[in-house]
Amino acid sequence: MTADSASGAAGARRAEDAAAAPGAPPRPHPTPHSTSAPNSPRPSAYGHWVAGAWRAPARGHYPVVNPATEEVVGEAPEADGAEVAEAVAAARAAFETWSRTAPRERAAVLDRVADLLTERGERLVPLLQAETGATLRVASTMQVPTAADRFRRYARGALEPDTIPLAPQPVKASPLAPGGLIGAAAVRRPVGVVACITSYNFPIVNLAGKVAPALAMGNTVVAKPAPQDPLGCLELGPILQEAGLPDGVFNVVTGSGAAAGETLVADPGVDMISFTGSTAVGKRIATSAGERMARTLMELGGKGAAIVLGDADERAVKSAISAVGSTWSFHSGQICTAPTRILVHRSLYEKVVAGLQHYASALTVGDPVDNSTIVGPLISAAQRDRVEAYIAGAREQGARIVVGGERPDHPKTGFYVAPTLIADATPDMTVAREELFGPVVVALPFDDEDEAVDIANGTPYGLYDYVFSADAGRAWALAARLRSGNVGINTAQRHPETAFGGFKESGVGRDGGSFGLHAYSELQSVVWPS
Ligand code: NAD
Repeated sequence: MTADSASGAAGARRAEDAAAAPGAPPRPHPTPHSTSAPNSPRPSAYGHWVAGAWRAPARGHYPVVNPATEEVVGEAPEADGAEVAEAVAAARAAFETWSRTAPRERAAVLDRVADLLTERGERLVPLLQAETGATLRVASTMQVPTAADRFRRYARGALEPDTIPLAPQPVKASPLAPGGLIGAAAVRRPVGVVACITSYNFPIVNLAGKVAPALAMGNTVVAKPAPQDPLGCLELGPILQEAGLPDGVFNVVTGSGAAAGETLVADPGVDMISFTGSTAVGKRIATSAGERMARTLMELGGKGAAIVLGDADERAVKSAISAVGSTWSFHSGQICTAPTRILVHRSLYEKVVAGLQHYASALTVGDPVDNSTIVGPLISAAQRDRVEAYIAGAREQGARIVVGGERPDHPKTGFYVAPTLIADATPDMTVAREELFGPVVVALPFDDEDEAVDIANGTPYGLYDYVFSADAGRAWALAARLRSGNVGINTAQRHPETAFGGFKESGVGRDGGSFGLHAYSELQSVVWPS
């Protein structure tokens, strides 16, 4: 492993030590520059980040592929069981000290991480863009800045009160203890070692959403990013170290398949698994974690419904089209919260379908590094094939493909699916029930609110729904009937302090804002005689 992805003198020194260790693979690119130089060459092969140093993988590397060019971006380490166990042991060893640091020290480290991410943005964005296929607009505005915001937010979070005082209660004497006025408090304590296992799409943002609140509360972390885009997450190792995080508090292991995550979940040294990914994998993890009562936070799949009520005026219809259009224009629909179904009152149905058709037809599909591109590729050939199979299934089941449905002619390389609008689907069609994770919107008409609610609630998911109406009070009342963790009224905009999570098979638990601090802590009740 080369040292040039380590930032700062301490990181560089440790990284070189690790690379010189017996059994380490030869370094592909010697480092001619200072590692802190913003434009120093990027390594082609990474190690795991364990105990504050690069750990050479015994089983070698696997290639990380640029979804737009199909070229190799870099080589990620292929973990074996011993390397995962080492990372957990490092996090365990660091827990006692880190969990007892003063909150202001943790806040200072997290603040510094946010500064460093901002400083290094120019260097990180091309890497993140290459491994995720995100467009320039998305990669530059919503990858590094959002991750930095999350570290900044939980720097403040580390200083939030962790003690809830309870009013003293007069308690009668009993065989247990003498009576008296008994005082008590509920105190938030860190859970311990947290395994953060994440999905592809927004690699460092997803990870920052877990790591920042976990560290703020005094936990230590082993991260296992998605196989498709792990390199930016590996880059976080030296950045957190340079920010002053003690070695072992944050570790990263990677692997090309399920094995690294499975081993991590089964490790008895892991106290909590914070998972973002598909519902199918979430169920497997919950089953394994349940065997030893490991804590879990599950952020899973979605099949969001945008409901356009019959009273929707021009403004509400326009908002609905723009919100649903984000399924095409925002990271090619690889978004768990995307409104991938639009349920429209029959009186407005053809008008809304025509508006969506117009919107989708105007989108430029192309190379994500081109400034004019709105729709980039999907993450992999496998994901493109999966989405295409769903579209073919919808066609066979009799739905109408209004726009798209075919592989675009250009670009010639890359894993592209054209923005696709499927109308006249019925709620029981596979394409209307299952999560595709691609640029595909399904439109369904309804006749009354009861029917809209039945369709919206009629999938196993319940992550994010939307209501569009001229009457916000009516939309508010409808929200109460939606079995969904989040409801947007006349907007797809987010509020950064809300609790985020899903009903039903979209997940268990909540993070976001101060709720994120609760997710990464256990309540301890402390009782005393006053
Ligand atoms: P995935 O479930 O295939 O993989 C997610 C992670 O789990 C990866 O790191 C993967 O390597 C790991 N993994 C796979 N099998 C495992 C096992 N048996 N044990 C432990 N770890 C295992 O998901 P994906 O394809 O990377 O991402 C797409 C999914 O993520 C979609 O369903 C999407 O809705 C969901 N997602 C949800 C949110 C949310 O906040 N709710 C956010 C983003 C993505």
